[in-house]
Amino acid sequence: MNLKILILPGDGIGVEVTSAAVEVLHAMAKKFGHTLELSEGLIGGIAIHKTGTPLPKETLDKALAANATIMGAVGLPEFDNSAPNLRPEKGLLDIRAALKVFANLRPVRTYPELIESSPLKNHVIEGTDMIIVRELTAGLYYGRPRGIENDRGFNTMSYTRAEIEQVAHVAFKLARNRRRKVTSVDKSNVLEVSQLWRKVVTELAGQYSDVKLEHMFVDNAAMQMVLRPTQFDVILTENTFGDILSDIGGILAGSIGMLPSASLGANTSGVTQGIYEPVHGSAPDIAGQNKANPFGAISSVAAMLEYTFGLLPEANAVNDAVGKVLASGRVTADLKPKGAPATTGQVGKAVSEAL
Ligand code: NAD
Repeated sequence: MNLKILILPGDGIGVEVTSAAVEVLHAMAKKFGHTLELSEGLIGGIAIHKTGTPLPKETLDKALAANATIMGAVGLPEFDNSAPNLRPEKGLLDIRAALKVFANLRPVRTYPELIESSPLKNHVIEGTDMIIVRELTAGLYYGRPRGIENDRGFNTMSYTRAEIEQVAHVAFKLARNRRRKVTSVDKSNVLEVSQLWRKVVTELAGQYSDVKLEHMFVDNAAMQMVLRPTQFDVILTENTFGDILSDIGGILAGSIGMLPSASLGANTSGVTQGIYEPVHGSAPDIAGQNKANPFGAISSVAAMLEYTFGLLPEANAVNDAVGKVLASGRVTADLKPKGAPATTGQVGKAVSEAL
């Protein structure tokens, strides 16, 4: 198969982990006889530096032409006080909106090899295997009106029935291939937008009678995720809540560097366009030091092979190779290895060789 993929390394450790992920992609293509049609583009802080905008038109055109986009991370401290439309993160929001990737899938599981890396007790996290389905192109991050006027800052959290339904369908369908349970997370005791969310999700559940639906307030969900994470199968939630809850996933998995993500749009003409990126940011504190954990980026490649290209054996092979390297103990410093930590580059090479 010919795989047409855009690579957007972005800023900080995004560049390092993406390089490891692309190495693994090449190893996979060689092993399974696929051809890679790769292009590269600018996004985030580096794009602002080189072109004056966080998402240049050229990048967007390339993304629209590709079947999938692999992204690193965006964000540079020097833009922390810039206007919202001149911040690296604006590039991220704009590409998600332009590609209409409304469902962000964030799997979180505990690897036996990493059980000691989490600050939580082993018996609490053992067996954790959940997937957070976060709505990605609406809600507080996109709602209007927004702004700062006369010393008053304001944002709008808004969802339409259609926006809720399309992401809820994704969650229910995923649950069917898992343990058949959806936990919809909202704040309907306070927010009208959450009341509509709960109503629409409950109505939709009628189409999925084989899946158990439960509702949970977001504050309780944050507590339950660390108290008893094994109770969750699929968590369905809106944009901001999903953003926050998925960082708790990093604690469950041992490091935020472990977590992959897939942002999916509608399946048009047989291909699900997707953006695949690790959950973490550009980590300015460790950028340029070759010590970032690339497993989240590499597992995002596996997610791309499965969801956009339907190549399940290839995806499993990448995940198995990640498992082998984890078991070998040659991992980066964040995973607290017993011996000397491996570099980002060494982990990428080890996964490629394990393939
Ligand atoms: P961050 O995820 O970049 O870092 C949080 C902490 O986790 C840091 O201590 C960092 O060193 C560590 N960490 C993150 N990824 C790691 C990895 N792969 N291996 C080892 N350790 C890792 O979050 P932050 O510090 O809040 O944000 C930094 C910048 O990244 C900001 O500009 C923010 O806006 C941006 N950001 C971007 C994305 C994205 O591109 N999707 C996501 C979150 C934050």
